[in-house]
Amino acid sequence: MRIDLHSHSTRSDGKESVTTVFETAKEWGVDILALTDHDTAAGWAEATAAAQRLGLGFVPGIEVTTKAHFVDKGKRHSFSVHMLAYLPNPEHPGFASALAHSLESRKARILEMVDVIAPDYPITVAEVLAQLDDGATQGRPAIADALMAKGYFERRDQVFEELWGAHQNGRYYIPNRGTPDTVDAIKLIRESGGVPIIAHPLARKKSERSGAESREGGFPRDHFVEMIEAGLAGFEVFHREVDEDARQWLLDLAGEFDLIVTGASDYHGKGGKPNHLGENTTAPAMLERILEQGRGASAVL
Ligand code: AMP
Ligand code: FE
Ligand code: FE
Ligand code: ZN
Repeated sequence: MRIDLHSHSTRSDGKESVTTVFETAKEWGVDILALTDHDTAAGWAEATAAAQRLGLGFVPGIEVTTKAHFVDKGKRHSFSVHMLAYLPNPEHPGFASALAHSLESRKARILEMVDVIAPDYPITVAEVLAQLDDGATQGRPAIADALMAKGYFERRDQVFEELWGAHQNGRYYIPNRGTPDTVDAIKLIRESGGVPIIAHPLARKKSERSGAESREGGFPRDHFVEMIEAGLAGFEVFHREVDEDARQWLLDLAGEFDLIVTGASDYHGKGGKPNHLGENTTAPAMLERILEQGRGASAVL
């Protein structure tokens, strides 16, 4: 039984339609797939139909972009945390309005980012929006696709490296100011009947890793305990961007607090990311726990 609990379609920044994602899953031997587009449940109806037609399982999910805030040695830090919400009710008023707010500010952010990028790489907002399906979640991958369409780059990862890579963050980067706080998001996901699991926790891109370099100050345990106390259900431990040292630390923490651990591909379609469907999978017993805790939506199984 191959269970992959993280994938994206053209409803956000994936390169394949929902139906194509499920057809690809079938081709590659995945039996149960979660569709987890960024900040939206817009693909769920199509996913239900595709899964039923193909005889696959479908677990409804949303990857919610959140912002975590914590204080270390008197200094305030914040960073982006992607929170997978499985089986939430996307119409729960509090959860729905947090998502709507975040989606609106993504739009404003695209306008601002095009403004700072255009002097160096001539590009227009219309060219960025032309890369997206109507109503799709807007984000940096659409900007990358537009820059590729103009012939400036060949692949998304080249754009990310050049414009938003480790050494140049800042110059072309505009934060999304409308994302919910991570702890608030965990509570909202639970209130909406969903099961919050951190996507690719402590992930590092290849460009951020360098051989022997270790994590400065170790792992932020207090920060994780705060999320667990707020209702966090688990960690997506098995993901290509989660290093071996982080995996071990997360597995220990999950054991200590009896949390769920999952594995998934984070598929974005061919040309979206190199991640292929089913490259990491979730144990059936862990999916069982998600299904037991999730009350806001129903899976197709
Ligand atoms: P945003 O939400 O607008 O900040 O964009 C973040 C999205 O960009 C993430 O969901 C990733 O799927 C995608 N992304 C991040 N880094 C890369 C990369 N190196 N190559 C392709 N896509 C990426
Ligand atoms: Fe993405
Ligand atoms: Fe993510
Ligand atoms: Zn993802």
